[in-house]
Amino acid sequence: MDSMAARRRSALASLLLVSALSACSSGRTAPAGTAPSPAPGGRTTPAGGTSGRTMEVPVLDVFEKAVAQGTRLRTGAPGPKYWQQWAEYQLQAELNPVSKRLTGQGAIKYYNRSPDTLRSVYVHLLHNLFNPDSRQNTDVPWSVEGIELSRVSAQGTEIRAGGEEGPGYRVDGTVMEIRLPRPLAPGGTADLEMAWRLRVPPDGAPRGGQDGEVFFISYWYPQMAVYDDINGWQIDQYLGNAEFYMGYGNYDVALTVPEGWLVTSTGELLNPDDVLSAQTRARLDSAGRSSEVVRVVTERDRSPGTSTARGKDGKLTWRFRAENVRDVAWGTSSRYLWDAVRAESGDTDQDGSPDSAMVGAFYRPEQRGSHWDESARYGRHSVEFLSRYLWPYPYPHMTAVDGPTSCGGMEYPMMTCIGGVWDTLGMYEVTNHEIGHMWFPMIVGSDEKRFAWMDEGLTQFNQSQAMADFFDGFDDEARNRQGYLNLAQSGGEVELMRHGDRYPNYGSYGVASYYKPATVLVALRGVLGKETFNKAFTEYGRRWQYKHPSPYDLFNTFEDVSGRDLSWFWRTWFFETWKLDQAIDTVTSVGDSLEVVVTNRGRAPMPVHLLVTRADGRADSLTVPATVWLDGTKRTTIRVARGSGIKSIEIDAARDFPDLDRGNQVWPR
Ligand SMILES: [Zn+2]
Repeated sequence: MDSMAARRRSALASLLLVSALSACSSGRTAPAGTAPSPAPGGRTTPAGGTSGRTMEVPVLDVFEKAVAQGTRLRTGAPGPKYWQQWAEYQLQAELNPVSKRLTGQGAIKYYNRSPDTLRSVYVHLLHNLFNPDSRQNTDVPWSVEGIELSRVSAQGTEIRAGGEEGPGYRVDGTVMEIRLPRPLAPGGTADLEMAWRLRVPPDGAPRGGQDGEVFFISYWYPQMAVYDDINGWQIDQYLGNAEFYMGYGNYDVALTVPEGWLVTSTGELLNPDDVLSAQTRARLDSAGRSSEVVRVVTERDRSPGTSTARGKDGKLTWRFRAENVRDVAWGTSSRYLWDAVRAESGDTDQDGSPDSAMVGAFYRPEQRGSHWDESARYGRHSVEFLSRYLWPYPYPHMTAVDGPTSCGGMEYPMMTCIGGVWDTLGMYEVTNHEIGHMWFPMIVGSDEKRFAWMDEGLTQFNQSQAMADFFDGFDDEARNRQGYLNLAQSGGEVELMRHGDRYPNYGSYGVASYYKPATVLVALRGVLGKETFNKAFTEYGRRWQYKHPSPYDLFNTFEDVSGRDLSWFWRTWFFETWKLDQAIDTVTSVGDSLEVVVTNRGRAPMPVHLLVTRADGRADSLTVPATVWLDGTKRTTIRVARGSGIKSIEIDAARDFPDLDRGNQVWPR
């Protein structure tokens, strides 16, 4: 999920989450032996695998194995033997808005590009979160049910549930194992076919559902689980809190709804002539050339023949194709308005000429109170800003959908579902945040379940950069820092390198996934300087576009690009909950100098950035490297020439670092 703003808004929901999470924090999630979090006191080796690093960083054995096998490099780049799986989906679904039923069928061609022969493949049935027999750590409406499979076939053979051996399938919670009729050799493909039914959950369900008027359809089809070079099958249950790890593929989808119902989906609309009226097509066309928002469908237009084409038997089938995406979601309603505008995305295809994407908003008229009529404008700024700040937005459209309240803010490829009541600041924030997720984790496909900070923390950081641009210097970084400091000061913080379903409560999950990693990136920018930081950050993204990076690939890329040993930084901020409290202890006159004694009252080793302001107004910056603290030293002395007289001395005047107590950092006090 989501934006912290969305989560902040619902105190009650958070309370419920806290208690629900506490109730099942004993860890019933990942199968033993694949736990991602290096246990404190467990085996540690230098992250870079070379001796002489300044601090030990716990490394997973499986990462070391990947390096040994050549699928990953110690520089942080994919190795020469990197591989990943692929799938081609052909899905059809029909929604009956009256019964709230969706019936679907589909074919998946699964490509085994791994060096391993697979006897089983695993499929996520994420909708089974709503099966009363499944395990949950978040609130779900009790009246729903899981996905009902009516037909499953593999490699051309119909297979049945049950049994332990031979062709068949077994569903455990949200995970389905398919025992293949024939082993799937490296380089081979397996065809799967399924038919299913499900009930779209009511408002109150996380990340989608329906409120009787609008339907946001997410997790609606059987989806291949990721099989990767680090963990093999990643088949952690979907319990409601921790998010997802999804593989890449192409999707052809055909979505049937009543005529007059507008549909927006991940992917490019293939048959506009069949489903849109001439008027809607013409307005959409002009939006594609306009930097001003075009009202494509207004209140007066919402009827079959005016907004949509006329259907056959009162129905229309919308066809979309999405390439190189990790999921497909869609929204539909007869009540939607449709705004659209062109966004300049930069040179997406690297042919030397600028490209663009269509930014859209689908919303009900009464949602203007939550500034939905500004959504397309906010989305346009978000796509354009992030395309410049990171790399060009690659997909044909980016559309925000007014969904049930419990959507909060949730991202899908090219789509976001946003629910609830918003002021302008919050509406920009949630829109930008979810759009920011197109870069992480939609394009840079990390494992959100095990390392939530890799998508939420990076996105929270990027959101701050965009908000500073849009709101003219607005300091969202300070909000993140305060969010982290509040928990760090009160205790109860846990480390970032922890599975998203294994936090003791929602507060510690939120800080470790959003506020702290965003704050830590600001600190890293302070350590490396803006230019080197930006270079390393975008290089990490460039290396891992449409791939599956591990945390070590991010750490190693920053070290590779900056040429610095940052082991002390990773250990401190990702594996520990060490705190930072640098203080100016004493300042004494010695000859023509001042001796400044700086103490480290916390455990986090960080450089000392000292700003010395002189009586004549000149200011000097001095840096003491973090290495002074690494042998356990608690105090260091810095000598400053007195010159024309010194007015003040301040530690970290730029506020790059999350220091617990700012009051002891300035002299004179
Ligand atoms: Zn998010």
